[in-house]
Amino acid sequence: MRNNIDGHFLLIGLMAYPIRHSLSPQMQNTIYSKLKVPYVYLAFEVDQKKLPDAIKGIRALGLRGSAVSMPNKQLVCQYLDKLTPAVEMSGACNTISNDNGVLTGYNTDGMGYMRMLKEANIDIIGKKITILGAGGAATAIVVQAALDGVKEITVFNQKDECYTKIETIAKKLNHNTQCDVCVFDLADKDQLRKEISDSVVLCNATGVGMKPLEGKSLITDPTMLPPDLVVTDCIYSPRKTKLLEIAEQQGCKILNGIGMMLWQGAAQIKIWTGEDAPIDYVKEQMGFND
Ligand code: NAD
Repeated sequence: MRNNIDGHFLLIGLMAYPIRHSLSPQMQNTIYSKLKVPYVYLAFEVDQKKLPDAIKGIRALGLRGSAVSMPNKQLVCQYLDKLTPAVEMSGACNTISNDNGVLTGYNTDGMGYMRMLKEANIDIIGKKITILGAGGAATAIVVQAALDGVKEITVFNQKDECYTKIETIAKKLNHNTQCDVCVFDLADKDQLRKEISDSVVLCNATGVGMKPLEGKSLITDPTMLPPDLVVTDCIYSPRKTKLLEIAEQQGCKILNGIGMMLWQGAAQIKIWTGEDAPIDYVKEQMGFND
C-alpha cells in the first residue's frame, strides 16, 4: 500500500460494471509504485446510466484519464472530444486521456496484441493473419492490424450480431486502409483450413477455451495447424487453452493472452504518464511468468 500520497498525485479511473473482479487496479498501481510516479488508479462501478456524469467528473475533478470497460466501450465515444483512428474505425474506446480538459479516446487492446507479437519477434506487417471471433477483442485486433500494415486478414465468426458488425467494419477498413479484410462463416471448415494454410498467425479472440467453455477449441483437427503457424489465444485463464495445447503438439509457436493484456496496460501507462512500463517486473509481481 502506498503511504506517500500527497496533494500532487493524480487520479486515473476505471469505469465499468461489474468491475470489482478486475486485476487492472493491482497491475496499474504496482507499476506506478515501481516507477515512482504520482498517480493512483481506482476502479469505479459505472454503468451506462451513470456514464455521462462520470465523464463530466473526469473533467470537473481533473482526472488524468480513465480506462473504460464493458458496458461502456462503445457508448463513451460520443462524450469525448477526439478519437484515434482505431477508435473511429472500431467504434470502441477502452482508454481516455485528459489533456488540459480535452478528452481523447484510444483503444489499447489492439495495440497490446500487436506489441505482444513484436516482443515475440513475430512479424505480421505485409502478411496475412486469420482471426476467430468478431467481438470486442477481435475487432480491436483487426482494426489495429489493418492500420499497422497487415496485408490481409480473414475473420471467422458464427452468424450472430458480431458477424454483421465486423462485416461493416471490414468494409470501412477495405475502403480506408491497404489491408484486405474478408469475413467468413465459422461453420465453413474447408474455407477456414484454406485461409489458415497461408496465414502466418492464427488468433482465437472468442471465449471458447475459457469458462464455461474451458477444454473446448474451435479447431479440433490438428492437421489444420501447420507447424510453421504461430497460434495465439486472447484467453489468459487458463494459461494454455485446448487450442494452444493442440497447436503446441503440432509444433506451432504458441502465445496466450497475458502478453496482450500486459502490453495493452503498458500502452495506457505510456498515454497517461509518458513512461515505459516495467513489464518483466509486473509479470513477476502478478505471478504471470509462464
Ligand atoms: P465478446 O463477447 O465481445 O465477443 C465474443 C466473441 O466470441 C464473438 O465473436 C462471438 O461470436 C464468439 N463466440 C462466443 N461464443 C462462441 C461459441 N460458442 N462458438 C464460437 N464463437 C463464439 O468478447 P470479447 O471481449 O471480444 O472477448 C473475447 C475473448 O478475448 C475472451 O476470452 C476474453 O477474455 C478475451 N480478451 C482478452 C484480452 C487480453 O488482453 N488478453 C482482452 C479482451 C478480451
